[in-house]
Amino acid sequence: MEAARVWNTCCEIHREARKAETKWPSRGDLQVATKGEFRIHSQSVQMVAHAFLANIDTTRQLRKTHPQMGMRYPWKEKRFYPLLWPAQAVHVEATRIVLPMGRGRKSLVIPRPVGFPDAPGGVKVCWNGAGYDLHVAIEAPDEAQSQAVDGVHATVDLGEIHQVAIATSTGKALVVSGRGIRSVKRYRNIALGQILRLRSRCSKGSRRYRRLSWAISRSMHRTLRQVRDLRHKGTRRAIAFCVENAVSSIYVGDPDGVRKRPSGRKHNQRMSQWEYGKDMQYLDYKSRKAGMECCSGTERGTSSHCPSCGHRHRPKGWEWACKKCGFRGHRDVVGAVNMHPLAYGEQIEFPSQITYRRAGITQGTKQPLRSARRSRPDPGLGACGPVLSRYANGPTTQIAGTPQGVGQAEGLRMEAHPL
Ligand SMILES: [Zn+2]
Repeated sequence: MEAARVWNTCCEIHREARKAETKWPSRGDLQVATKGEFRIHSQSVQMVAHAFLANIDTTRQLRKTHPQMGMRYPWKEKRFYPLLWPAQAVHVEATRIVLPMGRGRKSLVIPRPVGFPDAPGGVKVCWNGAGYDLHVAIEAPDEAQSQAVDGVHATVDLGEIHQVAIATSTGKALVVSGRGIRSVKRYRNIALGQILRLRSRCSKGSRRYRRLSWAISRSMHRTLRQVRDLRHKGTRRAIAFCVENAVSSIYVGDPDGVRKRPSGRKHNQRMSQWEYGKDMQYLDYKSRKAGMECCSGTERGTSSHCPSCGHRHRPKGWEWACKKCGFRGHRDVVGAVNMHPLAYGEQIEFPSQITYRRAGITQGTKQPLRSARRSRPDPGLGACGPVLSRYANGPTTQIAGTPQGVGQAEGLRMEAHPL
């Protein structure tokens, strides 16, 4: 709230200058105007002012380039704003991170998580809807660059049960399971249903009602982070596979349309919660970072004809079995193989070697999902965006085995209610 006050002050000063048509305040002017006025660290105050000025710059440019958008300069009075610290204000000690709050006030002290960098860039404390996140700027390690060979292409079939299925033109294929994500989401749906049922019996606004709302918020945000983490790991595994196989260009089939088919209550829910747009986005930027070309386009009809004889047939179950020529193969890999003619105009052989992987599990170990989350994942595969959010809320609460355990996992006292 104190940071929001800084923002509002900057807003006010700027508005006055615009109204009076005098010179707009510079960085120095804002620094002078906000100095010593707020109960947060002086550099945190400055960071807010810098963020404000960056906002002004962007708005000014947008007003020039896109006048029809009618962009307004910051006007809304904020109640909250993230707390920011520049790199030099952050003290990283052996076991803790100290974030100063200014002279005469207690610092914010956070236990230092394993793997936290010695010299991070700026940090930011943000509210995520259910708790606080610590966002840390770190230098990204160099990505493994693909030793791309021209003409080696890969096509990606996105799915809900199998997050990605890739077939390369060199005759290799990878299938990454999406079961982990599916199960986290299913767990979340059940837990949400149960809490909502309990909440529907409370009078709105009562203490119990608020507690249950809080439990919902926490549960939703936790599963959100878990899914994001798994999604990053799955797509990263896919890109690592492409790098290994010297792929120069990948084509991602856009599954838009699959979702719209009505297919019953449960499947409709799964389909509507399937975030293939995220997969496409992650694959896109991860492949570009690894020095590959990436494009996406239709995948119409790719899963309904036989890769060896072209016979049309809609498969049931995971296996694609051709009634005409006797071909048998993994359904999603068939989809990916059939995408090659669409994307690159070349028909490829059905891969002889298919690798199966699960997201979030280090290669070679057969751990169930839950213990895999407790142990630290292989940094090579897991060190991507969500790693930081894992630091934020301390140790991740273990997923309770049964939905009945929701109340305990939330740290909430829920009496044993017959459901
Ligand atoms: Zn066939």
